[in-house]
Amino acid sequence: SGLCKGCGRHREAYNRTQSRTLTTVFSGIQPTGSLHLGNYFGAVNLWKSLQNDPANHLIISVVDMHAITVPWKPEQLRQNIVQSFIELLACGIDPAKVVLFQQSSVPEHGKLQWIFSCLSSMARVDNLPQFKEKSAVQKEVSCGLFTYPVLQAADILLYKAHLVPVGEDQVQHLQLAQDIARIFNSKCGKLFPTPHRLHSDLPRLKSLRDPTKKMSKSDTDSRSLIQLTDSPGQIREKLKKSVTDFKSEITYDLAERPAIANLLMLYRAVLDVSLEKVLEETSKINKVELKARLAEAVIELLRPVHGKMKELRNDMGYLEQVMAQGTDRARTLASQTMDEVESLAGFRPA
Ligand code: ATP
Repeated sequence: SGLCKGCGRHREAYNRTQSRTLTTVFSGIQPTGSLHLGNYFGAVNLWKSLQNDPANHLIISVVDMHAITVPWKPEQLRQNIVQSFIELLACGIDPAKVVLFQQSSVPEHGKLQWIFSCLSSMARVDNLPQFKEKSAVQKEVSCGLFTYPVLQAADILLYKAHLVPVGEDQVQHLQLAQDIARIFNSKCGKLFPTPHRLHSDLPRLKSLRDPTKKMSKSDTDSRSLIQLTDSPGQIREKLKKSVTDFKSEITYDLAERPAIANLLMLYRAVLDVSLEKVLEETSKINKVELKARLAEAVIELLRPVHGKMKELRNDMGYLEQVMAQGTDRARTLASQTMDEVESLAGFRPA
């Protein structure tokens, strides 16, 4: 099962939700560019295992409202939204098992965010580290970037999610969502469950140019990431040119040799084997050969995904149908919660 009932790390969160028949899991992905291997192994693979467990109610949102918290171009955004749906479907996200929808097509997200903004102190939001990091590289910082974590809380709580798969960098944002749920429940009346973190076993993949940074869609240097849309030639080239160190032999040392460690983690994820197995396979080769083998393995992994993407691009009718169905399902759930929120908050007769 995707929830891995026996594993210690998940057991605590799982036990809290055992009494319910369904566990709602909420995840978001920003349409800020083509998905990369970090997204694939860090998020999409987990979603695929979650969707196959009937005990889960998995909700995945293409969070386009988050994507405009940094400078954006309308035409690019339009393309990225469609591309995100194509890539998720091509990777095996099944719209029959998952509520897959575009965030901006459900107006309740913005509405709930406003109420939550009024329940969050400036000081609490100002303390979040990601804002400081992201705003430091912007010429002009939007209010949207500041309140981004409050919108994230609305995304999660609108569906009364029990579990949210987030990386280390998002833990503080999830804590804000927990605080907001608690504040709303005590001020207005009990409505929201506390959303808990769902850990994934996979570490964050690093940039191929700078192993101190994570692989990221919005990285302006396209050589730093392998995207699902990359051709075999691009994959070979990017891996061949990926930054490593001066030693030629292969050893796994996260602190001293982070770039090689990153390539080994990637190889491990692509082959879906243990690190020991990868180290055994690579013990007698040098890093040039490692890069070459890794490139061929990634090309093989992405071959069926490329085929599926091509099919989907030629069937825009199907894609529109998937998007419309996702909107309908998400709106049904969101409007129920919003009705309850508005009554409890005092906008309507109790
Ligand atoms: P952006 O650069 O626009 O912030 P991103 O590449 O960081 O994009 P998100 O859309 O923020 O990706 O995240 C989508 C999902 O992919 C999240 O669940 C996130 O934890 C996961 N993810 C993103 N980058 C990595 C990575 N380098 N390694 C593993 N998982 C990742």
